[in-house]
Amino acid sequence: MAKEKGIHGVEDLPGIGPATADKLKEKGYDDIEKIAAASPYEIAELTGMSSEAAKKAVEAARQATTVDFTTGYDAYEKRKALGKINTGSEALDELLGGGVETSAITEAYGKFASGKTQLGFQLCVNVQLPVGKGGLDGSILFLDTEGTFRPERIESIAKAAGMDPKDALSRIYFVRALTTSQQILTIERADKLIRENNIKLIVVDSMMALFRSEFMGRGALGERQQKLNSHIHKLQMLADTYGLAVYITNQVMDNPAILFGDPTTPVGGNVIAHAATTRLYMRKSKEEKRIVRLVDSPNMPEGEAVIKITANGIKD
Ligand code: ATP
Ligand code: MG
Repeated sequence: MAKEKGIHGVEDLPGIGPATADKLKEKGYDDIEKIAAASPYEIAELTGMSSEAAKKAVEAARQATTVDFTTGYDAYEKRKALGKINTGSEALDELLGGGVETSAITEAYGKFASGKTQLGFQLCVNVQLPVGKGGLDGSILFLDTEGTFRPERIESIAKAAGMDPKDALSRIYFVRALTTSQQILTIERADKLIRENNIKLIVVDSMMALFRSEFMGRGALGERQQKLNSHIHKLQMLADTYGLAVYITNQVMDNPAILFGDPTTPVGGNVIAHAATTRLYMRKSKEEKRIVRLVDSPNMPEGEAVIKITANGIKD
């Protein structure tokens, strides 16, 4: 979408002064596209404006917003130019069609010690590699909700990749979130950090741990899913806007409804299932071997790759 007519922000709309603009921003209406998509009644209710004034503001927002159509060929050219981050394993890169995709959310789920976090560490190092050498010459926002970020692992993996570990660690912007509010706010406020530091990878390890512990029981499920939905939607928006990769890890449970076959199911329900562009199921094999199954991808067939977790990171 594009903006026209000198209307760039919420406060440029008729009848909306700084105080009203702040009110709207607080409620998540932080750009004119969101106002254009809102109903005047919503806006009137939120701000205390008269419904006439709200109608005018929404109308102006709609006029200032145009929809840009592109052709399928444009989309094809754009997709060809999308960056990929190598995983450290050629087999896994091949399974993914070249590596972890940008402008998309990749989810890894699996039981404890299946390698979800280790793959995240490897991506933190590899995204820093030059373009054409498996990376995007980018920095990382690492959101740790479980307290399992280990700089010494980054150090070993970076050394093995021929990088100065101190440089590699300096390009990782790390946040330890203890509550879902902190988790959500970190992502809500990430735009500036991303722009100023060329962030090309966001890791959320793990997506669901805090949501699960804070929203217990059936009664809280609706609210949990609603918050989760807007959280993951924001991640998707960042991926699209900045052409970056989002890697999230997810916990699993045994689904009692699955009587035959593997009952291991990722948590988070439909919200996560729909939002993740690519889903990987990781499971333990012998010793350092892990089996990675591509469960869901918009353009690659299902399949499996065997990787190894070594002291130097992910390998074939
Ligand atoms: P959880 O659900 O508990 O977060 P996870 O899927 O994130 O599990 P990881 O932390 O990625 O699991 O994997 C842990 C495994 O990684 C360990 O069991 C070990 O096999 C391997 N590992 C960790 N550090 C090293 C190391 N320095 N050298 C070799 N292997 C290691
Ligand atoms: Mg982990």
